[in-house]
Amino acid sequence: MGLKLYNTLTRRLEDFIPRSDVVGIYTCGLTVQGPPHVGHIRAALVRDILMRWLSHLGHKVKALENFTDIDDKIIEKQKEYKQDWRIISQKNIETYLRACDELNITRADVYPRASQHIEEIISLVQRLIDKGYAYEKKGDVYFRVRKFPDYGRFSKKSIDELMAGARIEPTESKDDPLDFTLWKAAKPGEPYWLSPWGKGRPGWHIECSAMSMHYLGETFDIHTGGEDLIFPHHENEIAQSVAATGKEFVRFWLHNGWVTLTGEKMSKSTGHYSPIKDVLERYSSNVIRLFMLKTHYRKQLEYADERLHEARSAYATIKTYLDKHGDVPQISEPLMRDTFTEAMNDDLNTSRALAVLYELITEGNECKDDRRAKEIAASVKYYYTLLGFIEEVEEVVEPYKAVVQILSDVKKRLREEKRDSVLESITSIDDFELLKDIKNIYPLIIRLLLRIRDELRKEKDYEFADYIRERLSESGIFVDDSTKGSTYRREVR
Ligand SMILES: [Zn+2]
Repeated sequence: MGLKLYNTLTRRLEDFIPRSDVVGIYTCGLTVQGPPHVGHIRAALVRDILMRWLSHLGHKVKALENFTDIDDKIIEKQKEYKQDWRIISQKNIETYLRACDELNITRADVYPRASQHIEEIISLVQRLIDKGYAYEKKGDVYFRVRKFPDYGRFSKKSIDELMAGARIEPTESKDDPLDFTLWKAAKPGEPYWLSPWGKGRPGWHIECSAMSMHYLGETFDIHTGGEDLIFPHHENEIAQSVAATGKEFVRFWLHNGWVTLTGEKMSKSTGHYSPIKDVLERYSSNVIRLFMLKTHYRKQLEYADERLHEARSAYATIKTYLDKHGDVPQISEPLMRDTFTEAMNDDLNTSRALAVLYELITEGNECKDDRRAKEIAASVKYYYTLLGFIEEVEEVVEPYKAVVQILSDVKKRLREEKRDSVLESITSIDDFELLKDIKNIYPLIIRLLLRIRDELRKEKDYEFADYIRERLSESGIFVDDSTKGSTYRREVR
């Protein structure tokens, strides 16, 4: 079975067959009047997973994600902050890209900005006027919706239904309440560009059509974005693009579900949101990634601390397992490949793909056969990387130093107390100079300390054993004693 994607255009799962050698992807990105929140990151993460999986299947990908850097809301902010719109936009773009990098979200090939593509936008608007699909009124240009018979088909809305919600604002002079803005005349003091219709700026919808067609051609493979964009934004994108070119615009439309906060959609305009910067201060990027990938991208995702804590402990299972195994060989044929592939090919079902990872970890934790255990660990690592989790080498350095210090203190005390029998039990792993690989030695030292504890407990020196447990827990390493022996887990941010 090849890749199947749920296409909003047809409302069903379809075989994904790209139209050319390079899969073109366009993602509706941020309107940069404010800092990015968790909802924006989810849309970017969907693009990231899509790109990773398409590349894995051997496709070449060209991805775009736009920034709406000029619109009414940004102009409002300009007035509010008494700061140039360019500075406001630039600041929010930088915050967003930094967060994406921290989250290991694959960068798009191009991040086009509306303000940098005015020429393409004007020429597309002109094309629509020339074909009779658009008209100018007092410096504004509108798209004549009723001229496009398929309008409403994409979002499954009838003209009657649309009429009920449509109205003409006092500032507008359009012919029909259904018509939408392609170009907006500038009011005094507002930023503007010169156009055949006077000083003005682009409407929101037209920029996405102009920029996507400029970089990806008049027909391209995949368009993604949040489900709230289906209407009117994507309905309008289709209408204006098809009207201008007479060609199919996009073959696959992928929409991700909302991110909700206390059950309500996160939204910049209502102020009901969690800025991604705050979230990244509290949770590691891997935990946030896991939190998002646990839910299928088309479903709504509730952002709540409780859910993030669940993701944190779920991530700790993976992390503890990988730490224990240190460096594993790179492989090209992981275990359970078919199950994993089937899950991802089924409309990028990341929650099922993650289940494969956990199944392998469970088996790995119980596995007594060394060769098999290595193969399992290598497979876990393979899928971990494929799903975009970051190897946390740097993060290991500090805890590594901490456990080395603990071991050194423990050994000093053992020598001072002349605990030869306990000391003997650890002489086999004594020479740290020989073990230079931090990732390998780190779990080794912890296991060594646990062995010392076991010896001490055998000798009923619980005070000393507790001392080791305390020291480890101060470094975020928690020891669990059971009848089978001691295990540990690391605290994950
Ligand atoms: Zn868009």
